[in-house]
Amino acid sequence: MAGFFVGKEVKMKNYDWKYNFEKTKSKEHNKEQKAGGFTCSHCKQFIFINDFMGTSHRNHCNYCLWSKHVDLYKPGDRKATCYAGMKPIGLTFKNEGHDKYGKSRQGELKIVHWCVSDMSISTNRIAADDDITEIFDILNKSTSITEQIINKLHEEDIQLLNNSDRTNIRIQLLGK
Ligand SMILES: [Zn+2]
Ligand SMILES: [Zn+2]
Repeated sequence: MAGFFVGKEVKMKNYDWKYNFEKTKSKEHNKEQKAGGFTCSHCKQFIFINDFMGTSHRNHCNYCLWSKHVDLYKPGDRKATCYAGMKPIGLTFKNEGHDKYGKSRQGELKIVHWCVSDMSISTNRIAADDDITEIFDILNKSTSITEQIINKLHEEDIQLLNNSDRTNIRIQLLGK
């Protein structure tokens, strides 16, 4: 009988823990939804979350393309507690493996973000309303990243795009 109650108690505790966890996790997300967007931590523009951007997890500003460190494991999880600005430091193509000739397949274009506080790196989908001039600006500036960032990218197996990828980038963004 005692064993039964112990089991029940444990079950209840697990339930409470999960409930509180879900509650904390969604707080930041709910706040954004309620406001219809968020204020960019870098350029201070108000960023609307809408259907036009083509992704449900808007995580960067469509003007300056800076992001905020709110996601921990995957885009949209809002599990990070850092909240520092994440600087766009380069572009990359999503790794889609290799074709049968061993040539790497080109996936979708992504922005590489670097947290200015804890040096985390994340790659993020481009949204339909992202500023294209800024995207090319990231490409131009990505040649001057620090040794520290280069090493970190290497560790995470992220290949930055360079000038020779310009045509492919333009095709992905503009279709020509
Ligand atoms: Zn901004
Ligand atoms: Zn961070």
